[in-house]
Amino acid sequence: MSPKIDFDKLSFSIMPGETMFISKCKPDGVWDQGAYLPYGDIPISPAAGVLNYGQGLFEGLKALQTKEGKVVLFRPAENAIRMGEGAHRICIPAYPADKFVEVIRELVRRNIEFVPPYGKGSLYIRPCLWGTGPVLGVSPAPEFTFMVYVSPVGPYFKTGFKPIKLEITREFHRAAPKGTGGVKSIGNYAGAMLPAKTTKAKGFNECIYLDAREDKYIEEVGAANFFCVKGKTVITPRLGSILPGITRKSVMQIAQDVMGMKVVEKNVSVEEAFDADEAFCSGTAAVISPIGSITCEGLEKVYNNFEVGPVTRELYDHLTRIQLCEEADRFGWIVPVV
Ligand SMILES: *Cc1c(COP(=O)(O)O)cnc(C)c1O
Repeated sequence: MSPKIDFDKLSFSIMPGETMFISKCKPDGVWDQGAYLPYGDIPISPAAGVLNYGQGLFEGLKALQTKEGKVVLFRPAENAIRMGEGAHRICIPAYPADKFVEVIRELVRRNIEFVPPYGKGSLYIRPCLWGTGPVLGVSPAPEFTFMVYVSPVGPYFKTGFKPIKLEITREFHRAAPKGTGGVKSIGNYAGAMLPAKTTKAKGFNECIYLDAREDKYIEEVGAANFFCVKGKTVITPRLGSILPGITRKSVMQIAQDVMGMKVVEKNVSVEEAFDADEAFCSGTAAVISPIGSITCEGLEKVYNNFEVGPVTRELYDHLTRIQLCEEADRFGWIVPVV
């Protein structure tokens, strides 16, 4: 164990690992072999495409330590594929998916001292894909950088698995139809800071966005996907301008194939969400976050008296147990690092 880190005091903040990975390519799309370097600042042109026009993408995944001391990744190839799709949308050559997974495995090995012990959190892995060459006009940069760094983070629920309070914002939208909401493009995120700040000032944990076309259907929760449960059916907004979460996809498969529930992707109106028995949101950081209440224009819907609903609990248990190798990896989601 590293003497430098107090694993009992981790939060979700940057505490960089020792080693990062950097690779570059030109517009021909041929990535160089890359290098593992000490974590540190990088030189960058003031005219870099990423700085001036937001030509950049990010990803996020976690390495977890199991009870037996193995270190594993959860569906890393899905991050590689999603980043490839995002790269196409913002005109960056994709980083090859097989190399992406190998780089991450090797990087985790090189930062193994930074992986928190079982139950104390995880090693958050942040791949970036940026246009780093100089440009003046709005066009793809002449050079691109793929970079990965890591940071240990604490468990998301420090005080236990506690339902959150959300507000539907009627003031802001996150993403436009046919825009970039469906990819992890860096330009999508600064615009979410004021909505989050506004809603937190009113005492909510996060805001829920409605769709920008009809201003009627639930899109997602900050940077997590939305779900609700009605009877034996798990309901989630259909893809389009929402981010296709890997946790979302996994929750849908567990609900259907492990729990035998019906899973429906559709337009979810505020009325339908208010009529549901349970609601939760999903993402790599939060895994599954139970929703205790949703407020819309002063009207508050409380779920389960602010207790965690049984379906939410069961989905959380299956997902986290699969991620920690405590339940059979029936879908082949686990990739060992060491
Ligand atoms: C990353 C992200 C998610 C969650 O995706 P996961 O793959 O489950 O981590 C949901 N919404 C937004 C806007 C995101 O950026």
